[in-house]
Amino acid sequence: MNAKDDTQPTIVPYLKRDESGKPYLAGSKCTACGHVFVGERTVCAKCTARGQMVSVHLAETGKLYVYTIIHRSFPGVKTPFVDVIVDLDDGAHLKGTLVGVKPEPEAIAFDLPVKIAYREAEPVNKPGKPHLSYVFEPALEA
Ligand SMILES: [Zn+2]
Repeated sequence: MNAKDDTQPTIVPYLKRDESGKPYLAGSKCTACGHVFVGERTVCAKCTARGQMVSVHLAETGKLYVYTIIHRSFPGVKTPFVDVIVDLDDGAHLKGTLVGVKPEPEAIAFDLPVKIAYREAEPVNKPGKPHLSYVFEPALEA
């Protein structure tokens, strides 16, 4: 993948690229209470402050909060895979797919440290450009 190809579509609107083409996940931080949310917000869902949100890059590390193993999905989507919600280190909560572990409960630990990796996702069942996507993968403890 050419990192500077900023014409490549992204799979979600909050997956963006910086001036150098490097991908990042965009969030909003409330300057009143400090809570961080995924994507653009104008009102804080935690403290209800209006007009206090600033754009931030979301943390790229976090811990597994909850998961489910998906055995049936849309035609063409390979199963099983692990669907997760991660508590990012900045306090935001992000949904995604966990790769790099067996899709079996015995192999998946709650609070597993994870990090974000950016990948291309090929279109399923139709021609088109691959989209830039993100996945979670286990992070090695420092
Ligand atoms: Zn707030």
